[in-house]
Amino acid sequence: MKVLVETHNLHKRFGGIHAVRGINLSVRQGEVLGFLGPNGAGKTTTMRMITGFLAPTDGTIRVDGVHVGLDPFQAKSRIGYLPEGAPCYPDMRVEEFLAFIGRARGFRGSDLQSRVERSIEAVHLQQVRKQTFETLSKGYRRRTGIAQSLLHDPPILILDEPTDGLDPNQKFEVRSLIRSLGRERAIILSTHLLEEVEAVCSRAVLINRGHIVFDGTPQAMDALAPASVKANRLDHVFRNLTTTEPAGTTK
Ligand code: ATP
Repeated sequence: MKVLVETHNLHKRFGGIHAVRGINLSVRQGEVLGFLGPNGAGKTTTMRMITGFLAPTDGTIRVDGVHVGLDPFQAKSRIGYLPEGAPCYPDMRVEEFLAFIGRARGFRGSDLQSRVERSIEAVHLQQVRKQTFETLSKGYRRRTGIAQSLLHDPPILILDEPTDGLDPNQKFEVRSLIRSLGRERAIILSTHLLEEVEAVCSRAVLINRGHIVFDGTPQAMDALAPASVKANRLDHVFRNLTTTEPAGTTK
């Protein structure tokens, strides 16, 4: 399958903080990549650089073959992005918000309308489409955020903690949705949950202090936590990995 996201030696510094230190990643169509790491590891910063919202200090990013730094408009047209917390205008109705985002993406008339309808159907928002964002449950807010990321039918989705704060039923639904979206796309999602990676992802990448420390299958990652460990298994995985040198390599 085609490589849709490629980063080469990606770095980001914020003043004295070296948040991302040489990330090399290559993600193919059909892959759902779970990005894991402790707080402050550099997940959001990496995702924001891939989406073109943050410029790298060093390194290059290509999405669907387009250089993000040199042609950000074309690059952004290939990416759907769900930022952390799924921000939205509180007094906009769901369908108004989606139409607003669609217009910002350059769609008009019947094309715009059919895109809004398709994205409402794709994430099952029919019953809340007339509700304002501030009256939605967290699950429906996240789904609205995912719906806006799908409006332009992008081959790449970047989802920052898509199930954060959802109840178990909502998590289950959003995960099923991500799995089905991932069949035709390349998806990168960040999470703090090992179970989420096992449920949704075909590949796991662990990042610590801006370095990749593991890149492999969820099953291989799982083997790093002894079966006897029931609670805080991700902490065990990290403890095992961070006592060794960073991998910092691609698959
Ligand atoms: P979390 O799991 O808590 O969301 P993360 O892995 O997404 O963490 P980042 O948000 O990428 O981590 O942060 C990486 C480091 O970069 C942190 O030390 C953070 O404080 C710093 N950082 C991120 N954004 C900025 C910014 N705009 N200005 C200064 N420092 C920043």
